[in-house]
Amino acid sequence: MKLTGSYALKVALTYAAVGALWILFSDATVEWLTGNATARNAFQEHKWWLFVLASSLLVFWLSWRALAEQGGLIRRLRQSAIVFERTHEGVVITDHRNRILDANPAFSRMVGRSEAFLRGVDLVTLHSSRHDGGFFDDIRNHIGEQGFWTGEIWNVGPDGSERPYQATVTYVGSGRDGQDRYAWIFTDITGLKDAQKRLEDLAYHDALTGLPSRLQVGDRLRQLLAEVGDNRRIAVLYIDLDHFRNVNDSFGHPVGDDLLVLVARRLQGRLPEGAGLGHLGGDEFLIYLEDVTDSGQAGECAVNMLKAIAEPFVLPNRREVFVRASIGIAFYPDDAGTAIELLQYSNAAMFEAKRIGRNNWQYFSEQLVRRASKRLQLDTRLRRALEREEFTIHYMPIMGGKDADEVCGAEALLRWLQPDGTLMAPEEFISAAEETGLIVPLGRWVLQEACSQAAHWQRMLGKDIPVAVNLSAQQFRTGRLYDHVERALQESNLAPHLLNLEITESMLMEQIQTGQNVLGRLRQLGVHVSLDDFGTGYSSLSYLRRFDVDTLKIDQSFISDLVANAADRDLVSAIISMAHCLRLKVVAEGVEDTGQLEALRSLGCDCFQGFYFSPPLPQEELVAWLGDDMRRHAVPSQSSAESR
Ligand code: C2E
Ligand code: MG
Ligand code: MG
Repeated sequence: MKLTGSYALKVALTYAAVGALWILFSDATVEWLTGNATARNAFQEHKWWLFVLASSLLVFWLSWRALAEQGGLIRRLRQSAIVFERTHEGVVITDHRNRILDANPAFSRMVGRSEAFLRGVDLVTLHSSRHDGGFFDDIRNHIGEQGFWTGEIWNVGPDGSERPYQATVTYVGSGRDGQDRYAWIFTDITGLKDAQKRLEDLAYHDALTGLPSRLQVGDRLRQLLAEVGDNRRIAVLYIDLDHFRNVNDSFGHPVGDDLLVLVARRLQGRLPEGAGLGHLGGDEFLIYLEDVTDSGQAGECAVNMLKAIAEPFVLPNRREVFVRASIGIAFYPDDAGTAIELLQYSNAAMFEAKRIGRNNWQYFSEQLVRRASKRLQLDTRLRRALEREEFTIHYMPIMGGKDADEVCGAEALLRWLQPDGTLMAPEEFISAAEETGLIVPLGRWVLQEACSQAAHWQRMLGKDIPVAVNLSAQQFRTGRLYDHVERALQESNLAPHLLNLEITESMLMEQIQTGQNVLGRLRQLGVHVSLDDFGTGYSSLSYLRRFDVDTLKIDQSFISDLVANAADRDLVSAIISMAHCLRLKVVAEGVEDTGQLEALRSLGCDCFQGFYFSPPLPQEELVAWLGDDMRRHAVPSQSSAESR
């Protein structure tokens, strides 16, 4: 029990009552207990001393308790005082009119005023002018309801600057004058605020280019759309650099970053008036034109940006780099109704620009949406087809020898045998499979299947017939091509020299730029490599020299007019001579008649492939075709072959 006033009164009254009882009844009680008047007289003589002894004991006990309690109180008060003095939080006690009654040193440091000065000052006058009277009324109301308030308050610092504090105000009872007292505790949150601002800046600005980030661009577009309503037209240009990956892969990411900074600066420098630029991340930039009266304006801007990007960039390491870009354009409110749609549709238009050859720009159109959804459907059907094993491979013989009557290989060509029995050619689905990445498992399946077929031919016919397999750039990029090839060879037990991988020039370029040299490793394994469709791409002699392939396949577009067109003949002749100089074997694709065959033979072409010999055949028919030496020069009947 605590030593309070009422407790002291209770003790005094009890003492008075016990004392009175002692005086009045102690004699009679002793006589009644002993039944002896002598004992009572003896007691009477000493009872005063007993009374004094009991009183002394009581006084001692009460004093001892009071002192112990007071000591604890003093200790606690001293501790509280130390906390008040030494804490880094500013602590202020105010009265009901916000006048400061006491302030600790931390608070005095916070506001740059001495504790003596602060006493009696209205606390509100030390707060920033950004808080009006209503703000303090709200605090008071809140304390009235809840007994405390907590929130952010800006105080004026010693140098007159304003600093943010986390403040907690608590009602601490009333003083001697009966008025309410409040304790205010202030914690400096300047560091926290700075960190918060830095985080916001980071999210709002791209750290690399310093341009507004995707988040800020999105916010700006939303704000713009809300401001203009339907009265103004806004255009969004989604810019994506072409083959930027190659720059990163060839020169490394730091150089790629340098290039992005240069691109950002150049775009910024060429922006038309009323346009904003943002960096969406990676190699993607976005330009918005705030007031477009004519859609041609956006197209013009796209052309200028493409021109700006096409100019060479000189990197800090003095290396000159050329880049190109693809741009998609969408309009508000014509195409899109929201900022998200603007981004989405301009992005779809950008992909269309990529699809039709890159380094150009495209407007968004409804047709694009339809095409995208068709693509999506095709993708779903393709995935299902792979699961249901609806793909099959046809093989097209490749002929060689002195009289072009020896089979020197067969090319594996993928077909999709749809549930309704129709055969779909690769041209119609390969690019879709490449876009979605399905080409990787599909290509791997072709590789395994073709290898086991070639092993089967060897067993059936006792003859080495190499199988040629077309590769997609995607398979190349997975970084697992070598493993997949090695595995297919192991599983089929096929000798590596009987596998011929057909690649295109762009893949060869990519390989050189990335320095992967997967093909080099594959050649070391014993696998042969052919360069397919030669003449349709870069046709770069230097690439051919740098990366030695085994065979060069001249594209059929050069063969079809070979007899009639002298220029084509000269070109094919030059390709063949060049290939022979580099010790490459030459295969001509698309040989359809004797004229072409004879012309090619006279130019020294080594091997031939085309409908003249045979169209692509299903596996069993190819075995029959190969086995029948007599029919080698005959064109197979329509029923057994694919329609041309
Ligand atoms: P490619 O590798 O250049 O294959 C040769 C294409 O030319 C084949 O078309 C073949 O049927 C056709 N061809 C050959 N000789 C003649 C001829 O005398 N006249 C005519 N008109 N055409 C001839 P196909 O099978 O439609 O394949 C087209 C392309 O699809 C291939 O071109 C290849 O790039 C790709 N492809 C086929 N199978 C695969 C595969 O498994 N994976 C990958 N990534 N691509 C494949
Ligand atoms: Mg091919
Ligand atoms: Mg080809």
